[in-house]
Amino acid sequence: MAGYINETKDFLSSLDGKGAWWTKRYSPGDEVPVSGIYRCVICKKEVTSNKKDPFPPQNHHQHASSAKIRWQLVIRADTDNEWKKGS
Ligand SMILES: [Zn+2]
Repeated sequence: MAGYINETKDFLSSLDGKGAWWTKRYSPGDEVPVSGIYRCVICKKEVTSNKKDPFPPQNHHQHASSAKIRWQLVIRADTDNEWKKGS
């Protein structure tokens, strides 16, 4: 689970969640829609990924089951002061 300390919690903003990236789940190799922290919905492992890069490949990590990796956005990085343009 992504973490913060008391000093940095004020750097997090609650957003409206209108961006499709909040509800969509991504597969290995998909293009990263927005920079941030993503977690695998199966095992909760997290990665940081940059916009327009591919998500880590299927062999990034293994699951005990045969379930495939699915990435979910957890924390979006405000790399371009975008919050005023929508989230
Ligand atoms: Zn996983």
